[in-house]
Amino acid sequence: MIKENVEKILCELPEGVTLVGAAKTRTAAEIQEAVDAGVKIIGENYVQEAERAFKVIGRRAKWHLIGPLQRNKAKKAVEIFDMIETVDSVRIAREIDKRCRVIGKIMPVLIEINSGREEQKAGIFPEDALELIREISGLSNIKIMGLMTMGPRFGNPEDSRPYFVETRKIFEKIKPLNLPNVKVQYLSMGMTNSYKIAIEEGANMVRIGTLIFGPREGDQI
Ligand SMILES: *Cc1c(COP(=O)(O)O)cnc(C)c1O
Repeated sequence: MIKENVEKILCELPEGVTLVGAAKTRTAAEIQEAVDAGVKIIGENYVQEAERAFKVIGRRAKWHLIGPLQRNKAKKAVEIFDMIETVDSVRIAREIDKRCRVIGKIMPVLIEINSGREEQKAGIFPEDALELIREISGLSNIKIMGLMTMGPRFGNPEDSRPYFVETRKIFEKIKPLNLPNVKVQYLSMGMTNSYKIAIEEGANMVRIGTLIFGPREGDQI
């Protein structure tokens, strides 16, 4: 089914929208099947899971970190990942910058926006994003490529729309600023239940797991 699912999604996505296959809990064999069917970017939530799949698949796919990065995993993360979508503090940005300098890499990153302003959730609050971006733009081994948001989880995808709209507004605001080490290009929003709404609101990168691989164990259907 993975092959058919991927082909259908790739066929239906509008031009200019990049698919990230969200692979948490999936086996390397499942991920390989998705890559063979045309998924070019794999999104992983955990460095350790990524490492396992990376050993099998290597550079036949690009790797995006879409879960929070702990500082003690930064060294491994900068070796594996082609993009880190979840930068939300100067502290983690500095660690990535430092680790990248050692291996001579410039890491493309997205700034994660906590568009729902949920206390326990990752991401920077919308009103603090610009200041964070200005600070991170001083780090020469990081390149800010855009924004990512999850938004609150809703049963009805339509309820996500205002959070996508708000993130898009920040995206449009930082685009013309011409900050150093910033090239605003990607707006990563939307998952299986919400990606169509996200695209309507300007997403050009969508992170899809369930629709590719089927329901995860333990998920409510
Ligand atoms: C799991 C996950 C997704 C994909 O979720 P699905 O509902 O399975 O499509 C997207 N983004 C992030 C950050 C995730 O953790």
